[in-house]
Amino acid sequence: MLVDTHAHLNFKAFDKDVSEVIRRAKKSSVNKIIVPGAKIDSSKKAGQIAEKYPGVYAAVGIHPHHVHEFTENGRNVINTLNRLAKHNKVVAIGEIGLDYYRYKNYPEITRDEISAQKKLFILQMKIAELFNLPVIIHCRNAHDDLFEILDKILTNTKFTHSGVFHCFGGNLIHLNKALEMGFFIGFDGNITYGNLRLRELVKATPLHRIVLESDSPYLAPVPCRGSRNEPANLPYIASCVSDIHNRNLEEIVKTTTQNAMSLFLL
Ligand SMILES: [Zn+2]
Ligand SMILES: [Zn+2]
Repeated sequence: MLVDTHAHLNFKAFDKDVSEVIRRAKKSSVNKIIVPGAKIDSSKKAGQIAEKYPGVYAAVGIHPHHVHEFTENGRNVINTLNRLAKHNKVVAIGEIGLDYYRYKNYPEITRDEISAQKKLFILQMKIAELFNLPVIIHCRNAHDDLFEILDKILTNTKFTHSGVFHCFGGNLIHLNKALEMGFFIGFDGNITYGNLRLRELVKATPLHRIVLESDSPYLAPVPCRGSRNEPANLPYIASCVSDIHNRNLEEIVKTTTQNAMSLFLL
C-alpha cells in the first residue's frame, strides 16, 4: 500500500471524474490520499471529498499564493479555517507557507504581500497548534524567512507536532535544517525529470523522513509527464526513490507508507 500525501482532487481538473480517479488509485495500491486546501473554497471541498470516500483525508489552509483572501477578509478567514479544522477527516493544516516566486502573468511580489504572507503563515501555525495537527508546508524562494519564523515558533510555543516540507525545492542547507527540526520531506514527480539537484536532495534525505506526493493534477512523473497527473501515478515516484537510494521498491513502499501514517495519524 502507498499513501499519496498531496493530491488536489479538490481542483477543477478532477470535477468530472474524481470517483474514477480514486478507483484507479486503489487499483495502483494507492489506498490513502490526502487532499490539501489552497483557499477557503478548496479547503471546504477537500473536507467534502474526504467525507465521501474512504481512505481519503483532507487538510485545510490557505496557500501563500492566495494570501489576498486573507488580506481582503482577515479574521473571517481564520475563523472559517478554525471551524473547518474540526472536521474529523482533517488530518493536517495545509498547504501553508511562504512563496516569493513570481508566477507567470502575476506582478512582482510586494513588501506588503510578503508581510501578509508571514502573518497568515503564523496564524495558520497557531491553528495547527490549537488542534494538535501536523502542517503541510509550501515554500518557494523563501526558505530563509520561513525558517526564521519556524525557529521562533518551535522555541516559543507549544507546537510540538511535526509536518512536511511538501515538494521540497530548497538547497542542502535548507534540507538539513528541515530535518534537524524534525520535519518530513515530500518528493513529487519532478524527481523523475532527471534534474541532478533534485536527485541529490532525495539521496541526502534519510528514507525514514521521506513521504511521497503526486501533487496531482501537476508534476506528472515520467512516463506520464505532460498529462494531467493523478494519484495512480505514485508508484513511478516510489520507484524513482528506490533507484536513487539503491534500495528495493518494497522497502521504499513500506517505509514511506509508515512515515505518512505516523505523521498524519491515518
Ligand atoms: Zn504547493
Ligand atoms: Zn499543492
